[in-house]
Amino acid sequence: MTEASCIFCKIVSGDISSDLIAETANLIAFKDIAPLAKVHLLVIPKKHYRDVAELSASNPAQLSELMSLAVKLAGEYTNGSFKLQFNTGAEAGQTIFHAHAHVLSENPKDGS
Ligand code: 5GP
Ligand code: ZN
Repeated sequence: MTEASCIFCKIVSGDISSDLIAETANLIAFKDIAPLAKVHLLVIPKKHYRDVAELSASNPAQLSELMSLAVKLAGEYTNGSFKLQFNTGAEAGQTIFHAHAHVLSENPKDGS
């Protein structure tokens, strides 16, 4: 499922370019265009789910895959100190209504 107006569906399809850092059968990960921390990655399902609640209800196995990839990338890009965040709903700060995990850290692997 894709949504014609969804920016993240367009990143999945390649219609919008991104700084892609990982791809699996069901997921992609890329750098946030407006980083809020030294490390700011986004991990998303290729299929469109409006938020983590819909992903959890519709496809919990894929949410588990997403969490595993987020933690794996956190291990590659940070020194092991990081935050995982799912903004869910406009009032919680969600602006892109395609489920995504933020990986945030002020502690990059290389220490810079
Ligand atoms: P939200 O506020 O929905 O939790 O997070 C959406 C995130 O997507 C924001 O941190 C924003 O900077 C990022 N973002 C929005 N548009 C683009 C884009 O076109 N490319 C990339 N790489 N990130 C984007
Ligand atoms: Zn989408």
